[in-house]
Amino acid sequence: MKKTVTILVPAYNEEEVLDQLYERLSKVVEDIPFYEFEILFVNDGSKDNTLNKIKLFKEIDESISYVNLSRNFGKEIAMIAGLDYAKGDAVIIIDADLQDPPELIPEMIRLWENGYDDVYAKRKTRFGETWLKKTTSSLFYKVLQKLTRIPIQKNTGDFRLLDRRCVEALKQIRETQRYTKGMFSWIGYNKKEILFDRDPRAAGETKWNYLKLVDLAIEGITSFTTTPLRFSALFGCIISVFAFIYMIWVITKTLLYGENVAGYPSLMTVILFLGGIQLISLGIIGEYLGRIFNETKNRPLYFVDEYNNEKVLNANKNQ
Ligand code: UDP
Ligand code: MG
Repeated sequence: MKKTVTILVPAYNEEEVLDQLYERLSKVVEDIPFYEFEILFVNDGSKDNTLNKIKLFKEIDESISYVNLSRNFGKEIAMIAGLDYAKGDAVIIIDADLQDPPELIPEMIRLWENGYDDVYAKRKTRFGETWLKKTTSSLFYKVLQKLTRIPIQKNTGDFRLLDRRCVEALKQIRETQRYTKGMFSWIGYNKKEILFDRDPRAAGETKWNYLKLVDLAIEGITSFTTTPLRFSALFGCIISVFAFIYMIWVITKTLLYGENVAGYPSLMTVILFLGGIQLISLGIIGEYLGRIFNETKNRPLYFVDEYNNEKVLNANKNQ
């Protein structure tokens, strides 16, 4: 029996690029014999013509399926929805904007057949991305790597092939605030990297902005490590030690030379400094508390409006 490979494409307002994507994808797929392909689009609440385009593709090509989410949930959720609905023995996640070249797919499948469970594409270069985006992202990886113990792949996006057992593993992680990139590392299994040049997006606009990046960075850190919580304790200890030494010094000085009344500036600095540290610590604790709050609500991750031309009643296809 032929093995099935699902190509999972999360798409949010991508009407401009879908024709190109479909053309390149189908060309690649046609050249790979011995496999059944399923191209699964997850329409993440697009406000443009994305859904209609996908439906048109589906009419002419029966290897296409789609999941239409009930609103925009963000890429992380769109991906897990796709994994829930994917039928393949392997799933390849690829961006709709052609920043991930579909031409790498044959190589991914080859490595999968050689026994790798997670073949991920690592960017050699990033064309069309600003200097600021590149530096902030490399800084973020460094910090994250220092704080967590699981190795997280640098310069790697979500473009990868996952064996069925990785997919099943990821489906069991039902966190609502998802940092999928960390999860790929966390589940483990046999990993293999391939290098590629990342192109600028083919058409349309990126849905990212710096606020979202900061958001993802905080998500990434707080979902994978509690080390920052320890920072506040560490800061507290260091400051206490200094304060203690300072206190001894003040007492000795007072005993030896008599009382010194002045000292308003030093008092102010200490109060302001400690106030700052306290606010930072509270913020860190709050960040984790917020996560606990969100996870304990235990809500379904997403709702599905339509799957392959059929309205979906029980939307959450959990595991
Ligand atoms: N995407 C999505 N939901 C969103 C935002 C983005 O499904 O809320 C999809 C988008 O259609 C694309 C992929 O995620 O296929 C990557 O998005 P984008 O190109 O905007 O991000 P960037 O490449 O700039 O990091
Ligand atoms: Mg992109």
